[in-house]
Amino acid sequence: MNSRAVRTTPFFDRIRSIGYQPFIQIGIQSETATDFVICHTQQELARFADALGALPQLGQSPFLMGLHAAMSLEFYDAGERFFEWCLQGDDGVALEVLDFSKARTPLAFPLEFPLFVLFTSPAATAAQNPSDRAEGLSRLISMYHATSGNDAMRWTLMEGAALGASKYYGHIGEYAAAMANIRLALNYAPKSIHLRAAEHALELALGGKPVPDRLRKFIGKDNGALMGRICPEPFKRFDVGPSGETLLCCGHWLPTPVGNIMTQEVGDVLNSHAARKIRASMLDGSFKYCNHLECTALIQGYLPKKEQVTDPVLRRAIDRGELDIDKVEQMLFAFDQSCNLSCPSCRVERIIERPDVRDAKTEVVTNKLMPLLSGLKLLDINPAGEVFSSKPSRRILELVNRQDCPDLVIDIISNATLFTEKEWANLPNLKGMVRAVRVSTDGATKPTFEKLRRLASWEVFVRNMEFLGGLRASGEIRQLKMSFTYQVDNFREMKQFVEFGRRFNADFVIFERLQNLGAFSWDEFRSKAVHLSDHALHDEFLGVIRDRVFGQQIVWHDFEWEGAAALSEEDASERMKTTVDMTQFIGAGGA
Ligand code: SF4
Repeated sequence: MNSRAVRTTPFFDRIRSIGYQPFIQIGIQSETATDFVICHTQQELARFADALGALPQLGQSPFLMGLHAAMSLEFYDAGERFFEWCLQGDDGVALEVLDFSKARTPLAFPLEFPLFVLFTSPAATAAQNPSDRAEGLSRLISMYHATSGNDAMRWTLMEGAALGASKYYGHIGEYAAAMANIRLALNYAPKSIHLRAAEHALELALGGKPVPDRLRKFIGKDNGALMGRICPEPFKRFDVGPSGETLLCCGHWLPTPVGNIMTQEVGDVLNSHAARKIRASMLDGSFKYCNHLECTALIQGYLPKKEQVTDPVLRRAIDRGELDIDKVEQMLFAFDQSCNLSCPSCRVERIIERPDVRDAKTEVVTNKLMPLLSGLKLLDINPAGEVFSSKPSRRILELVNRQDCPDLVIDIISNATLFTEKEWANLPNLKGMVRAVRVSTDGATKPTFEKLRRLASWEVFVRNMEFLGGLRASGEIRQLKMSFTYQVDNFREMKQFVEFGRRFNADFVIFERLQNLGAFSWDEFRSKAVHLSDHALHDEFLGVIRDRVFGQQIVWHDFEWEGAAALSEEDASERMKTTVDMTQFIGAGGA
């Protein structure tokens, strides 16, 4: 089918009567008539998505299903459907994406958006092939790229379509064509976890390097790499973010919120529609809301195998598809971003919560979160800011005690600059409850530390670390961890940092790649992220991490580069017992 088969007059007549070209115009063309489904502007998104969802031809056209999924912000599904459309086409109908931007038309203005024609006439459905359809998808991406306005909807569409194009072109080995589509869409959706995963996989493929199994589905068919695994986190975890948004894993690994604790009751959040969808994605092997590029459980491959799971909640989910839960075991409390520092990788200026917001959050802690804490096994507090700068965080630390929370252990995350002997003496109720203190450090020397821990004093920090090292030595805290986010300003101190950690009796030094948490533009981020293969210092970085020091038991890392001390699945699982203990969910003997 090509544009000559289309009866264009009804399209042009409709555009003329509207007075401008609508953002999406789908003409359903039989042998005798043309009916339209139209989205004039992005303000009509919800109504348009409903109309699309009700179309009788929806089930016959993976393209329309892809469009519908993209409109519903289900980008992974959109990519799958668009890929399916490229490979197999429609069933009994045929959709074509047309470009009239350079054609002569009877209209007084140029047509900047694609026209979508859904042919229902059997005669018109014969001639398409996969390559024609993939070109149609690329056409859609290019045309929306060339326009402006309706940004939210345009970017949404491009993200889903680019993922589909990446899968198709990657599937047939045309990696450059796949990358061209991904790069266009990344201009508009730079934080898309799936586009970033596809980009990384394509970089590897274009460089002739092996693509990890878990990433192959972003540039081809789903190879089922995760089908036999399950991640316990979404069944066990309840993370509270700075605005009260609730997540089932850490926000940059699984950024889809499931509710908001400021405005909803805990029970409604626990088993919301979004929460159930995320848990379902653990069972169908897609892990489609997870960041396949950054999640260390996926990178290191230590997720439990389904057949080894003994935990009753997970077993019920695996065996019977039950997705609801009635309690959680882990809470990551990131409810307050207040901090005495302003680290450049985290924020552009110092953040201190407004008093009214701070007080409202403290009330939520007392009335909504404390009841959950009585059944909790692990509380992580507070990765969003500094625990000793935050009134809601302090409220939790003041209220918990062994009697009310019999099974609870606490992991404290701190920059250590306020972690003094005096502060510690004010919290006698925590005695025996603190499992670990994790100190985010990012430097092993005064100049680097003070650059990356803006507003901090090296001397105060070292004094407090000596106090913490003493707490570790006496057993008052059971673990001390020091973390290091590697980037251009500090990667040459990575080796030194291992020794620095030993000086304070650290059980672990943790190396993690830089992430863009919103403090950087994407250009700034790329200029700092030495772990990216196109960074000018990437080879020097690879030379640093090849050092054998990173193979020591004290080191935990997220390296997956050639020549780096690779952690075996067993080793990674064993070391992670002390951070996220995945092995607690499986029976004895299995990792
Ligand atoms: S697989 Fe990774 S991102 Fe997904 S829920 Fe588990 S830990 Fe989070």
